[in-house]
Amino acid sequence: MSRLEIIQQSCDLCGLCVEECPFDALAIVEGWLRVGEGCVLCGVCVEKCPADALCIVEEREREERDLGSFSGVWVLAEQSAGRIHPVTFQLLGKGRELADRRGTCLCAVLVGDDLGAAAKALCCFPVEKIFVAQHPSLARFRSGTYAAALAELIERERPEIVLCGATSMGRAFLPRVAALVKTGLTADCTGLEIADEEGLLLQTRPAFGGNIMATIVCPRHRPQMATVRPNVLPTLEPGRLRDVEMVRFTPSGGAIESAVEVLEVCEKQTDAVNIAEADVVVSGGRGVSSAQGFGLIRELAQELGGAVGASRAAVDAGWIPYPHQVGQTGKTLQPKLYVACGISGAVQHLVGMQSAGKIIAINQDPEAPIFRVADVGLVGDLHVIVPRWIERIRRRRAADGPNNSAGASAPPPGHGEGRS
Ligand SMILES: Cc1cc2nc3c(=O)[nH]c(=O)nc-3n(C[C@H](O)[C@H](O)[C@H](O)COP(=O)(O)OP(=O)(O)OC[C@H]3O[C@@H](n4cnc5c(N)ncnc54)[C@H](O)[C@@H]3O)c2cc1C
Repeated sequence: MSRLEIIQQSCDLCGLCVEECPFDALAIVEGWLRVGEGCVLCGVCVEKCPADALCIVEEREREERDLGSFSGVWVLAEQSAGRIHPVTFQLLGKGRELADRRGTCLCAVLVGDDLGAAAKALCCFPVEKIFVAQHPSLARFRSGTYAAALAELIERERPEIVLCGATSMGRAFLPRVAALVKTGLTADCTGLEIADEEGLLLQTRPAFGGNIMATIVCPRHRPQMATVRPNVLPTLEPGRLRDVEMVRFTPSGGAIESAVEVLEVCEKQTDAVNIAEADVVVSGGRGVSSAQGFGLIRELAQELGGAVGASRAAVDAGWIPYPHQVGQTGKTLQPKLYVACGISGAVQHLVGMQSAGKIIAINQDPEAPIFRVADVGLVGDLHVIVPRWIERIRRRRAADGPNNSAGASAPPPGHGEGRS
């Protein structure tokens, strides 16, 4: 029979359950919470308890017994017109590590229609299985139908971990999936680890406006689900093409019915380079001083064949639009080269760029925190250093000939003389 259990070590005697119980069945007696005979197991106290110190025992035991029946790490491979989103290759690297720690398999999951090319591309990665949920109704993304199809597959296969990129698509439909399969979801993670032999997934993400890093667990439900920010994990490079088991899955008719009809898909017209995908990013901060000052940053970016980024201070000052912002509330990047000009290196900026292959920082303050993550640090006025660097690139290019791009590799002035 079910009964209400009090986990005394978690209970901090806040008294909320006593107040909320509609049957006056709970009381604090001599410093302990007690359940009286009036308890009808309505569950109100379980829901209200902020410390998770109450549970209805039979239900909890059943769930805990079930946890062992879930296995496998799944990575949802987001694709559009057969092109797999780059975050998938970052998740496959982490997914492999988690699966190995759990001694279980890594599976990729595709949802859509006409998925042959995407499935083949995934065969170059170390996955044991690829689930292909394919149907003409899934050709265009609609969060309801995608969620229903994936939830049905999860109910059937019972994976213990499901990961997806925190992209617009992942953010739109993974919470629906979690609700359908009655589990938790940690959105926008920046780190994932396995805690112990029980396979608890430690899901780390910034919280309270980025002032703390919270580690979240999902102890009583499976699968453990997380969306992960693009570019916070290293990208797994493809290996040779392998034979991978394909499991085809056709969602049931009801699951993929939708009241939403996609009439037309319009590509967003933008002349801005997507900084998240650029190999070289030159960013300016408050030290750039003005919107006109960004002309210099643009010039250097152009010479290096890169895109322009910015700190939040520069965006807030209105010197450059928000799509260029790098950091916790902007974009997370993993370029080969990141040049930070007049940026102090606040933690909220660093989370967006510290995984760059090489970092060059220009700052007039020798104590600026940006120098702690920089491979090359130039102490001085950016308005002097950047024009000299541009000049040096142009001279090298002119000497090498007009069609030679080697000029872009000219090192910044003072490299070797300044702090590095
Ligand atoms: C919840 C939250 C989220 C945030 N999200 C982000 C985010 O996504 N991205 C982000 O960038 N910030 C973010 N911030 C803001 C962050 O805390 C910093 O305030 C911001 O990054 C500072 O920008 P900055 O380095 O350009 O400016 P400052 O900190 O003012 O630094 C300017 C630097 O320029 C140098 N300098 C000045 N003049 C020159 C010169 N002529 N030549 C060379 N160097 C010069 C100075 O020495 C200084 O180090 C967030 C803050 C919070 C609270």
